[in-house]
Amino acid sequence: MTHEEILWKILEVFRKCDVRSFPINCFELLKHYGYECQEYSELEPNKQEVCYQVSEDAFRLQDKVYYNDNAKFCRRRFSLMHELGHIVLNHQAPYTQKNEQEANFFAGNILAPRMAIHYARCKNPNDVAELFRLTYEAASYAFDDYRRWRRKAIYRMTAYDKAMYQHFYDDKEKCFVWSVRKCQRCHATLYNTTKTICNVCKIYRKPGMDYMIFPVTFLPPKQRSDFLVAEQSWLYGDDL
Ligand SMILES: [Zn+2]
Ligand SMILES: [Zn+2]
Repeated sequence: MTHEEILWKILEVFRKCDVRSFPINCFELLKHYGYECQEYSELEPNKQEVCYQVSEDAFRLQDKVYYNDNAKFCRRRFSLMHELGHIVLNHQAPYTQKNEQEANFFAGNILAPRMAIHYARCKNPNDVAELFRLTYEAASYAFDDYRRWRRKAIYRMTAYDKAMYQHFYDDKEKCFVWSVRKCQRCHATLYNTTKTICNVCKIYRKPGMDYMIFPVTFLPPKQRSDFLVAEQSWLYGDDL
C-alpha cells in the first residue's frame, strides 16, 4: 500500500467517525470499528504476563484491543492508533514488517494530519506534541514530514489535500477547523484554540477569585457584536 492510499484510508475514518477536532479520541474510533479496549492492569497477573510477552504496547485479539495502560499517555495513543491501522488497512496476522511500517505511518498521520499541523500554526515539534498529544519522538517526525508537505503544497494541492480541506472546512466559521471545544465556564463553543476558557469568561474574572460565568448572550446586543469582532481578532488574528 502506498502512503497516499493510507492517507485516503485515514480520511475515510475521519468521515465515518465524523472527526472534526484534534486531539482525536482514540477509544471512540476503535469503538466505531467494533473494538473494545482492555487495559493490561485489569487482567489477572498471569494473563498480564502473557500480554507483555505479546506486546509491550498493544495488540488485538478478536473484538478487543489490549493495551498497556502503564505506558505513557501519548505512547498509548500511538499504540492504539497503530492497532486501528492494522484494522483499517486489513492486515492479517502474523504481520509483516511492511504491515508494521504502514500501521506506524497510519498512526502518526491520523493523530496529527499535516494539514491540521499547518492550520494549528505549529512552530516546532513541541507544539505538535502538545496540541495533538503525541510523544516528542512522533511529533518530531510529524513536524519534519509536515515541512516537506508544506513545501509541495505551496505549489500544488493534491486531490487528497483538497478532500482533507473540504472535510475540516467549517461553513459557519469559514475556515479550516482543527479544534472544537466548549468553554469550561459558559459552554460557548471555541474554535481553533487551545484555551479552555473563552475570552468573555476571562475578562470577567476577578483577581484572586474563581472565574465568573458571564457568557456573550448576557451582554446587550451592541456590546455583544463588538465583542464578537474583538474575539475573532484575538482568536484568529487579522490574517485568517
Ligand atoms: Zn503492529
Ligand atoms: Zn465562557
